[in-house]
Amino acid sequence: MKNRNEMTAVEFPVNPIRMRACRCGCGYEFQPNRKDQLYIDKRHYDFDYNQNKRKIKNKHIIVTEKQLRLNNRVLEKHYVANIESQKKEPIKCYLDILKAEGFSTKNYIGVSEEGTEKFYLLYDYYYLLFRNKSNQLIIEIYKN
Ligand SMILES: [Zn+2]
Repeated sequence: MKNRNEMTAVEFPVNPIRMRACRCGCGYEFQPNRKDQLYIDKRHYDFDYNQNKRKIKNKHIIVTEKQLRLNNRVLEKHYVANIESQKKEPIKCYLDILKAEGFSTKNYIGVSEEGTEKFYLLYDYYYLLFRNKSNQLIIEIYKN
């Protein structure tokens, strides 16, 4: 009669390590040879390493582009919301309200000076800033 250990070995053959998804994001599963193997092979490891290195290197560009898109979105929101009631450009708002929504005057894609006026350009809109009589910053929004 077989002893208990042998029975167990037959019912549950020693399976190496479970299949796992390659860490590089390629979407393939593989059978690891070691418990700590995270990539199918060196090629997949190198790919992941280079991707991440590039991501870190361009981090400041990604952050800036994100802010530019957010700025454009905030301008659009106020432009669209106000054009119906105001009927004509420019749309005027308190800058502080836009800032509360994440708008930043530090990021724009260009500047256009016309006389004494300085327009800051974004993708679909441009704006200028001035202070009203109460010394509050006002933003005037125009559509491209
Ligand atoms: Zn991979």
